[in-house]
Amino acid sequence: MATGIRLRVDPIACEGRRLCAEILPELITLDDWGFPIVSDDDVPVDLLDEAREAVRVCPKLALWLEGPRQT
Ligand code: SF4
Repeated sequence: MATGIRLRVDPIACEGRRLCAEILPELITLDDWGFPIVSDDDVPVDLLDEAREAVRVCPKLALWLEGPRQT
């Protein structure tokens, strides 16, 4: 089931500390400099908890979820 929820990153605020990719490697990979590349796909239902945790731990508030019930 599609959630319509997507993960977004602010590349200016992000300092490439990689915490998000450690929590959610299924949707966040790192570029050669350690900055996150976030999947443009919907966050699957079974990864929503991890996605919320990745948002919560980002020290720069550079990560957020958008879509139904996320605004
Ligand atoms: S946790 Fe935040 S600051 Fe660290 S790489 Fe992810 S988005 Fe960037």
